[in-house]
Amino acid sequence: MQTHDIRKHFLDHFIKAGHTEVPSASLLLDDPNLLFVNAGMVPFKPYFLGEQTPPYDRATSVQKCVRTLDIDEVGITTRHNTFFQMAGNFSFGDYFKREAITFAWTLLTNSVSDGGYGIDPQKLWPTVYLDDDEAEAIWRDEIGVPAERIQRRGLKDNYWSMGVPGPCGPCSEIFYDRGPDYGVEGGPEADEDRYIEIWNLVFMQNVRGPGGGKDNYEILGPLPKKNIDTGMGVERVACILQGVDNVYETDLLKPIIDLAAELTGRAYGAGSHADDVRFRVIADHARTSAMLIGDGVLPGNDGRGYVLRRLLRRVVRSMRLLGAGDNQATMGTIIGKVIDLMAPSYPELETRRADIVKVAVGEETSFAKTLAAGSKLFADAATATKKSASTTITGADAFTLHDTYGFPIDLTLEMAAEAGLEVDQEGFTALMAEQKQRAKADATARKTGHADLSVYRDFLDRGPTEFTGFDELVSEARV
Ligand code: ATP
Ligand code: MG
Ligand code: MG
Ligand code: MG
Repeated sequence: MQTHDIRKHFLDHFIKAGHTEVPSASLLLDDPNLLFVNAGMVPFKPYFLGEQTPPYDRATSVQKCVRTLDIDEVGITTRHNTFFQMAGNFSFGDYFKREAITFAWTLLTNSVSDGGYGIDPQKLWPTVYLDDDEAEAIWRDEIGVPAERIQRRGLKDNYWSMGVPGPCGPCSEIFYDRGPDYGVEGGPEADEDRYIEIWNLVFMQNVRGPGGGKDNYEILGPLPKKNIDTGMGVERVACILQGVDNVYETDLLKPIIDLAAELTGRAYGAGSHADDVRFRVIADHARTSAMLIGDGVLPGNDGRGYVLRRLLRRVVRSMRLLGAGDNQATMGTIIGKVIDLMAPSYPELETRRADIVKVAVGEETSFAKTLAAGSKLFADAATATKKSASTTITGADAFTLHDTYGFPIDLTLEMAAEAGLEVDQEGFTALMAEQKQRAKADATARKTGHADLSVYRDFLDRGPTEFTGFDELVSEARV
């Protein structure tokens, strides 16, 4: 089943059960705690917090999500995208555990002709929270899942809250057993690669107190109105239904891998593991970039803009590491392909096609200049390091790369790792702090009128100079 049909079956299933379809919100909803929308429930937060009254008791959506936290997993695990689609159903003081579990089960296991996904029930493993006897009884006695396939898990895995005082509650997650090729038996508790998580059902029934972290807080008592919030990973279900190894090989991402293979002349799945990871990173990051630009993000030096810049630059570097030439522009073609694939579900991408491509290509061009300027210094620094029988690039070199050539420290770290080296990050940070101190002193001097203007004089005397570093500078803001 293609991704498009997975989305459609989901929405139809819940519309039929009385839910109002709500279109995906932008990735950039205003939320002081979030850089990007990272779950289907985010646009519904005011309803769950009781700040607004929902115009419906039941809703369903397929929400665009970006999780920057998962960036380092991309291409390495079989299941983490930076952009993915979370399909969800929501109850605002209406139905609760029994219906939520039954709705999920019937969609997963009903035959395709019956509107379901036709998944073999024997392969599904639900989990419940430690003391949630009620949910366990529903799974075992009403749905008929054998007791040995239902696992109980603690606060960290199976209890949900927004991280602040407010609604919270136990979860029940549904995992799919991919078989012995993917890991050891024993259920999700034993191996989350073999047992891939596809759906999280949250039963909002309590109020949590302040303090503690994700796995250490007090549960104060029951919520006046109980809610349901669920999230199913569309790409993960696609991976299972399409019988492919990982989410990057599903129908909306694999064509990008194929295009990258064509452009670089290197085959996917035939060379090294490192190459395959790069192909998957390209497909994932190119797609996330297009979706972010589509929602209005521009490359920048901090916050959202820096995330986008980092994603686009990783695409460029991965393409080069796979053999694309230094002067080979590939971004336009790749982003064009992403839009071809995603526009049927997100028509705004088609409307904004030219702008999206232009922004991505602009970043490719400016990054190519940065690389051209700094790569020689990096290579010299790496050679000098190895000659001196050290494995650590000095903080001074990392600082020069940053200060003069606009190499973000992430890039230096990544290139160093590829060369089997480390970077003296402490030394780098100390030099950055010194520079900041100097800038501060300069500003004070300017204010008090004691600035030494001779350097500026010198500049003026030398006539106009071309300065290309500005758009390359990176602030210290990290994500
Ligand atoms: P995992 O443990 O695999 O990282 P999660 O527990 O962080 O997943 P939830 O926060 O419960 O995920 O999100 C609900 C659903 O969204 C998951 O069950 C999964 O199907 C999907 N999902 C979560 N993160 C990703 C991701 N990075 N890429 C693709 N799908 C995801
Ligand atoms: Mg996760
Ligand atoms: Mg999980
Ligand atoms: Mg989960």
